[in-house]
Amino acid sequence: MKVISERLATPIKYERDVCVAGGGVAGIAAAAAAARNGARVILLERGFMLGGLASAGIVTIYLALCDGMGNQVTFGLAEELFRLSIELGAEDRYPRAWLEGGSHEERKHARFEVQFNPQLFAISAEQLLLSLGVKILYGAPVVAVNKSADKITEVIIEGKGGREAISVKSVIDATGDADVCKLSGEDTVLFKQGNVLAAWYYGYGGGEYKLNMCGFCDVPEEERAPGQETPMLVNRRFGGLDTAELSEMVQLSHTAIKRNVLAHRDKTPDLVPVTFGTIPQVRMTRRIEGRMAIDTSDDRRHFDDSVGTFSNWKRRGPIYELPLSALYGKRVKNLITAGRCISSTEPMWDVTRVIPVCAVTGEAAGVAASLSDNFENASVEKIQEVLRSRGVRIHIDELDLI
Ligand SMILES: Cc1cc2nc3c(=O)[nH]c(=O)nc-3n(C[C@H](O)[C@H](O)[C@H](O)COP(=O)(O)OP(=O)(O)OC[C@H]3O[C@@H](n4cnc5c(N)ncnc54)[C@H](O)[C@@H]3O)c2cc1C
Repeated sequence: MKVISERLATPIKYERDVCVAGGGVAGIAAAAAAARNGARVILLERGFMLGGLASAGIVTIYLALCDGMGNQVTFGLAEELFRLSIELGAEDRYPRAWLEGGSHEERKHARFEVQFNPQLFAISAEQLLLSLGVKILYGAPVVAVNKSADKITEVIIEGKGGREAISVKSVIDATGDADVCKLSGEDTVLFKQGNVLAAWYYGYGGGEYKLNMCGFCDVPEEERAPGQETPMLVNRRFGGLDTAELSEMVQLSHTAIKRNVLAHRDKTPDLVPVTFGTIPQVRMTRRIEGRMAIDTSDDRRHFDDSVGTFSNWKRRGPIYELPLSALYGKRVKNLITAGRCISSTEPMWDVTRVIPVCAVTGEAAGVAASLSDNFENASVEKIQEVLRSRGVRIHIDELDLI
């Protein structure tokens, strides 16, 4: 392949304590948490709205804050963003038992989850971050970092205004794809199974506005029963990190949406798609290889460095503590991850990638980044103290389990 060499002189346009790369649920939670703890925060988003997969990706089901046994296990910003997503009303799955004082028995039968409107969520999240003084840059893909020894000193974006650098103390990688980890030489792991095609879209027809979830959720190889296959829209899987492959994947999803619309036209002749994903609907791509990788076998395991608790959206019962050491790696001292690119084993990745867990990891990363620029040596007790003061339950024994 032919290459060219370029000489670049990049202006340092901003100086901030905390730089959040990516404005999905994890990035929103991270930016809010860091700003609330007094940090000067900048959030860099390659698109032009907040929410990531949860808004631009049309994934609008905020999965459970409860364990499926009638107990709430996730608190803090994860609950705040849940409520924010439906501040002007829920689209579907309204959790009456949880929001209107239902009994424990009622809560056992209805999980604490909801379907929200993607555009309203994006706007409300934007207003929240602006009210906290977060500088939001849209059209700002992170394309490089500058390092001194084992720390990132500048994060570099390239948008309409050209190439610009942001001088930083600490960085939160909430890109979903561990882009900053990759750019800064941190160890990363690729998703080996590959993503199945998804083609979620909102349709309007027959007087009804409805989310159509085309494309089944996959089962991790390790959990598959012998002979069990995932029904697929197309017979191939996608890594999600190659421009040409992603473009093809999105084109296939558009075809699948049109096919789905046509298939429903006999019953709903006026059905049309009104919104589809404007970012690729990939579940797992690349993650940090952290100090530790959380696993599904860590159900009820105590971690001294826990920074929050969460449940398993696929199963009723399990509760996990989130170790801070699953958020940072071994090489870049002032870099921490949040969201679907934190460190977990392959089966656990399918549990940690969902919206409420992304919010838990975002809040923890945000607080940590506001307190330290060397996560390995950060005071875990101080981070836990701040999180507790925000209503986060740190250990499972702090939950009011019935
Ligand atoms: C088909 C599908 C169905 C799903 N169903 C559910 C469900 O029902 N419920 C549920 O809770 N979860 C579900 N999920 C998972 C969940 O939606 C996501 O994993 C979660 O929203 C991820 O949040 P995040 O903030 O970590 O990442 P993302 O939402 O991916 O956000 C990352 C953000 O970073 C930006 N970005 C990326 N690279 C860069 C860069 N280099 N520079 C600057 N910005 C960048 C992106 O534009 C994006 O806004 C589903 C996912 C898929 C794909």
